[in-house]
Amino acid sequence: MNQFQYVRATKPQAAIDVVAKDPTAKFIAGGTNLVDLMKRGVMTPQKLVDINRLPLNKIESQNNTLRIGALALNSAVANDAQVRARQPLLALALNAGASPQLRNMATVGGNMLQRTRCAYFYDLSMPCNKREPGTGCAALEGINRMHALFGASDKCIAVHPSDMSVALVALDATVLVSGPKGDRRLAFGDFHRLPGDTPERDANLEAGELITAVEIPDGPFTKHVHYQKVRERASYAFALVSAAVALDIENNTIKAARLALGGVAHKPWRLPAAEQALVGQPATEASFRRAAEVAMQGAKAFKHNAYKLRLAPNTLVQALKTASAA
Ligand SMILES: Cc1cc2nc3c(=O)[nH]c(=O)nc-3n(C[C@H](O)[C@H](O)[C@H](O)COP(=O)(O)OP(=O)(O)OC[C@H]3O[C@@H](n4cnc5c(N)ncnc54)[C@H](O)[C@@H]3O)c2cc1C
Ligand code: SF4
Repeated sequence: MNQFQYVRATKPQAAIDVVAKDPTAKFIAGGTNLVDLMKRGVMTPQKLVDINRLPLNKIESQNNTLRIGALALNSAVANDAQVRARQPLLALALNAGASPQLRNMATVGGNMLQRTRCAYFYDLSMPCNKREPGTGCAALEGINRMHALFGASDKCIAVHPSDMSVALVALDATVLVSGPKGDRRLAFGDFHRLPGDTPERDANLEAGELITAVEIPDGPFTKHVHYQKVRERASYAFALVSAAVALDIENNTIKAARLALGGVAHKPWRLPAAEQALVGQPATEASFRRAAEVAMQGAKAFKHNAYKLRLAPNTLVQALKTASAA
């Protein structure tokens, strides 16, 4: 591991000031991703600003919104009574991620900013535009079975690995950030980025910006929800494909739907056209299959991940069936 300086912050502004002024500095929360990347030499920050003592771990209710602090632990959020009652989809997605030990360390902000699991990103002997801009993308012609179906570019075809973020984009969450220029709010769907020509940037954050909280509006999605995750073994593995589904159903007719896929794009992939296709339809497998066809419009596979063209719609249909049966 490279040498680094360690700083412990007790006030958000102090943490922001250090990272904003020093391009080699990074915030560290649970460390479950950043420390791994540093051990492997993939990321080499020269200063770590420990944010664990900042007062940002509360889960609280405000004006029909649930506000979750950026330092709330994944396990605390998943087990919180308000989250389970008001946003059960989020609890399901969190519990599908990582292991209990990791969830006890991982924070909400860190989970959103965890980096891709593309194997070439971790392999310092291979070209990777995300790790080292301008070197190329080994995955384009390499083993790309884990890679994207939507929104990829010729610079990067990686996918975002977070389970929690798939639920948050479906639930219309908002991200609260503080930075050197003040506070701002971003719709969750605008937080993560497509790779384009700058795959080294995973999120629309400016230098020194600190995630302080995530807000989720109350909605009718407390009953018919499901998070379906397909992975290569029963636990402790990242998603090949996942689906977050929330339905509002009355008399077997779908009044509203919120859908997103994970493991298919550089960002959690919301499905607005498929949501529209479900509204006013009966909650039947035929409706779900039609919506899944709509969801897959524009998908493009690479040499080794064509299996996802069937896996993704099937996962979505299974999630819809489970959610509607609840
Ligand atoms: C073996 C293993 C299996 C895993 N399986 C899964 C899985 O199945 N699903 C899943 O979703 N995840 C999985 N994970 C990933 C895990 O969830 C993440 O490592 C974790 O959520 C990161 O949170 P952290 O607080 O430890 O972040 P850190 O490692 O501390 O930080 C990660 C990044 O976020 C930045 N950061 C942290 N907090 C903030 C903030 N408030 N504002 C701005 N920047 C911030 C840091 O600078 C860093 O760049 C797995 C991890 C491991 C090691
Ligand atoms: S897909 Fe992205 S992360 Fe993977 S090698 Fe290509 S540029 Fe790097």
